Amino acid sequence: MTEFDALALAVVGVRGIKPYRPGKPIDEVEREYGISNPIKLASNENPRGAPPGARRALQNITELGRYPDGNARALKIKIASRLGVDIQQITMGNGSNDVLELVARVFAGPGDEIIYSAHAFAVYGLVTRAVGAKSIVVDARRWGHDLDAMADAVTNRTRVVFIANPNNPTGTWSEARALRRFLGVMPTTTVVVVDEAYCEYVGDSAYPDCVRWLRDFPNLIVTRTFSKVYGLAALRVGYGISSSAVADLLNRVRQPFNVNSVAQYAAIAALDDTEFVAASIAENHNERQRLYVELSKQGLGYIPSGGNFVSVDVKRPAVEVYENMLRRGVIVRPIGEYGMPNHLRITVGVGEENTAMLNVLSQCLQAT
Ligand SMILES: *Cc1c(COP(=O)(O)O)cnc(C)c1O
Repeated sequence: MTEFDALALAVVGVRGIKPYRPGKPIDEVEREYGISNPIKLASNENPRGAPPGARRALQNITELGRYPDGNARALKIKIASRLGVDIQQITMGNGSNDVLELVARVFAGPGDEIIYSAHAFAVYGLVTRAVGAKSIVVDARRWGHDLDAMADAVTNRTRVVFIANPNNPTGTWSEARALRRFLGVMPTTTVVVVDEAYCEYVGDSAYPDCVRWLRDFPNLIVTRTFSKVYGLAALRVGYGISSSAVADLLNRVRQPFNVNSVAQYAAIAALDDTEFVAASIAENHNERQRLYVELSKQGLGYIPSGGNFVSVDVKRPAVEVYENMLRRGVIVRPIGEYGMPNHLRITVGVGEENTAMLNVLSQCLQAT
């Protein structure tokens, strides 16, 4: 009998997948470096944690023995009324990453093409390979999506285009006019996903309100998440908003109970805690601005960001700086895997975290 070879049995796309590498968890740094309470600025979580309203809601959960509402009706009603859409237009996900995967599974397979930008969110490439489709990676322009080049790359095999707006890890975002023009030239054989994980943070009037465009573009899917400004990354809740025809298809392949009850209750409460969200956004704006100033003082370049993170050019292999920072108790993210070997992506923390990070960064740059 020949030897069992798991890799050879895997479908072709899966064989080529490099596993997603998440930000280093706090307890791992504590264990490996003997540091207590490191500052984690590596995964773009809300540095304030979960909204108080959501924490309170979790104390009242008693029905752990029952399956969740597979349709997440109460949560969908809340989202739909906020956004002015029908509940039939919503697809809930175990995080918005789940929805990104549903899109790939529904619309693409072997022989099909999926387009995304260089330096774009890693999950686009993962889900593309997982379904056996071909990745078409379009060069970026000044770190941002080159929408004209992306439109030019569309062929009759293009089933999906992923646009991160703002993009992680670059923080770049596309303006309303350019994005609308892009949607206008898409063929009816291509769906476009606009991933708005960080939309709440942008705060610029040129930023598009894509949900309002759903009426004009039945091939548009907008994704949002509770993992970032809503402070619920641990619970895994996100959603897609689209035409009801598209949502119906996404819901066909969705696992029936993909969003657990605890997550549903917490997400509803988080939407109600508008004070927390507003304060988080305001603090992010102030601190992001302060980071720009302080980074410039250290002679470092950065990419202006629409999100709650900033990618910084440390002008040397960023992995070394990252490791030095880890030893001093600050976890950031080197982004060589995104084709940016000299950049660190740093989540905007609360004031004192940022101050500590800036000090450690400056020490590490002097040391290397
Ligand atoms: C964080 C992030 C998401 C959200 O992921 P979840 O699965 O909702 O936690 C989606 N897109 C981008 C670009 C992100 O950075």
